[in-house]
Amino acid sequence: MIWARQTPAELGSCRALPIPWPARTSHPSLQRSLADAQPEAFWPQTLPARDPHAPLERTREADLCIVGGGFTGLWAALYAKELEPRREVVVLEAGRCGSGASVRNGGFLNYSLTHGIANGMARFPDELAALERLGTANYDALLSDLGRHRISAELETTGELDVAVAPHQLAGLSEAQRLFEQFGQRAELLDAEALQAQIRSPLYLGGLWQRSGAALVNPAKLADGLRGAALRAGVEIHEHSRVRRLRKHGAGVEALTGTGAVRAERLLLATSAYAPLVPAIGRYVAPVYDYVLVSEPLGPERLAQLGWTGRQGVGDSGNRFHYYRLTADNRILWGGYDAVYRRGGPVGPEYDQHQATFRRLAANFFTNFPQLEGVRFSHRWGGAIDTCSRFSVFFGRALGGRAVYALGYTGLGVGASRFGARTGLDLLDRRTGEVTALRFVRRRPVPFPPEPLRQAVIGLTSNRLAAADRSGQRGLWLRTLDRFGVGFDS
Ligand SMILES: Cc1cc2nc3c(=O)[nH]c(=O)nc-3n(C[C@H](O)[C@H](O)[C@H](O)COP(=O)(O)OP(=O)(O)OC[C@H]3O[C@@H](n4cnc5c(N)ncnc54)[C@H](O)[C@@H]3O)c2cc1C
Repeated sequence: MIWARQTPAELGSCRALPIPWPARTSHPSLQRSLADAQPEAFWPQTLPARDPHAPLERTREADLCIVGGGFTGLWAALYAKELEPRREVVVLEAGRCGSGASVRNGGFLNYSLTHGIANGMARFPDELAALERLGTANYDALLSDLGRHRISAELETTGELDVAVAPHQLAGLSEAQRLFEQFGQRAELLDAEALQAQIRSPLYLGGLWQRSGAALVNPAKLADGLRGAALRAGVEIHEHSRVRRLRKHGAGVEALTGTGAVRAERLLLATSAYAPLVPAIGRYVAPVYDYVLVSEPLGPERLAQLGWTGRQGVGDSGNRFHYYRLTADNRILWGGYDAVYRRGGPVGPEYDQHQATFRRLAANFFTNFPQLEGVRFSHRWGGAIDTCSRFSVFFGRALGGRAVYALGYTGLGVGASRFGARTGLDLLDRRTGEVTALRFVRRRPVPFPPEPLRQAVIGLTSNRLAAADRSGQRGLWLRTLDRFGVGFDS
């Protein structure tokens, strides 16, 4: 996730001042706060139980095969049916639909296609006006699709607050406000007092309230609603059907699971940070784990201690940042800060828990909200983010053009995945237009180096980003990366 954080130029000119993170993690009350937290994502528990869709157990012909049943795969399936209702569309999902990032995220729905407006300006200045317009249109269409497909995703159009917890972060907020206004979003700068009237924390020095193009959803309800809409449109879904191999088959492509195969004219890969089925994806994507805590529901007294009647999603500024929000039953979801990359980029259930990060997140939570001392966490989990060096979705062709991939959202894909899905399908079907002509769509990110260099470079970059947060100065390494238009984020 990213909001309007410091651009390189702003950080370079700032004074060195301390930030409150990371807080001390040895306090005994931290242990207590985490003692009963279930090692599971909170969101799927808000869904009614259902049986899984049957796995694929035969060889089947189809017009379109989609690999991956997260937001990208499900939006693509719906779009394919919308364009051609008679087209046979099969979705193959390794686990349950939406068992990946799509049900593990914070549920911040943002219009940005470029991982925030500042990143858009830094990396795609010539196309930013178009990307902002397309991002806004995608966001508006997503909201109207919720109504059209009867998806109740606990939508709250509250906007987002980006808060400064160190003086050197304030300049970034002013610059972001200028950019928002320039490109037609509504955003209001809040001084410390006005911010404290929205939500109370002793750390807040000021904030920026993005009032348009930002909302909150329950991501599990969104993913499940998309699954239901795709089924109603006639899409065939197989769960527990991991694709192990892809190969050309005549003029089309064959996707092989352990127990069956789909032979299709075309194939869309929507597999995010998971083990890549075509080598190119592995060059561009580094899976990075992001972790989340959810608290017990807060009663009226606790809520009154916070204010927060506007229920905005909140993110603090800085390279290592927290994101937090209220759920429908008034828990606080609190995630981010650490972005954990492991050598080789493995993804699997064994990485969903990371005690050191949970302790750090809990300590930072009580530093941010000391009035919540005694609150306990009910859930803790992690998920893999498909980080790429430009922080935004990219596309590519494989298997002689028979397959297209759409991934790389780098932690801001709840809204952008609708755009990614539709653009990926347009590329696959060779439909051309304004979007497919954009360099944003035609170009891929700068690849990460292979291991073991990859881990060393990511480690060094993470270390320098943390140092930049502490000092307010962007050092030589980060300035060099900026010059080449590459970076590391979550
Ligand atoms: C902890 C966390 C917090 C986040 N918070 C936010 C947020 O608040 N706002 C925001 O905008 N974004 C957020 N994101 C990012 C957002 O969740 C993702 O960008 C988005 O869900 C990507 O959707 P997707 O469908 O591309 O990927 P996924 O949801 O990961 O779907 C990929 C699917 O492919 C399946 N798959 C993989 N390999 C195979 C195979 N070989 N065969 C069959 N199926 C396969 C997987 O099982 C998975 O279900 C967050 C991500 C994480 C992890």
